[in-house]
Amino acid sequence: MAPGLPDRVDCAHLADDAVVLERVFPLESMPRLKDLLADGRGSVRARFAFAKLGSGRVGATVAVEATPQMVCQRCMQGFAFVAAGSSEIEFSSGPDAVASDELREVYEMKDGLVSLRELAEEELMLALPIVATHAPQFCDAAPTDLQVGEVKHISGDRTRPFTVLQDLLKKT
Ligand SMILES: [Zn+2]
Repeated sequence: MAPGLPDRVDCAHLADDAVVLERVFPLESMPRLKDLLADGRGSVRARFAFAKLGSGRVGATVAVEATPQMVCQRCMQGFAFVAAGSSEIEFSSGPDAVASDELREVYEMKDGLVSLRELAEEELMLALPIVATHAPQFCDAAPTDLQVGEVKHISGDRTRPFTVLQDLLKKT
């Protein structure tokens, strides 16, 4: 992140002007990713497009791209995983808020502010597999009878991935 750019932003203010922000964060600045990644090399490119949703509600489209180093769970070698994802967010001021549009994920503000780094981290976590494996042709330990569909995603339930993730995090 370039010096001088604030990480916590005023969602309502940015939505008033339909501001689009682009940021790059080092992967090592994202503590919740640590256990998933082989190391902290690389960065996340994130784009936040703020918008008014009507009746005073505020939202954003959050998109991330990154190529983190993950550990193949078959051969335990590191490899570069190409990750990309995007979500439609509706910001809420309380933990029990319900999205006005069921296609949107609710994300809680603190005093009207959100951390762009935390928002990007959450979105990237959704884009990473829980069990990472090489493509079989690149993996020394790949089974000879190729099994399809082994990569499990946190975001298996795409209807409410943020809620699912937050529930998962509460249990750990
Ligand atoms: Zn492998």
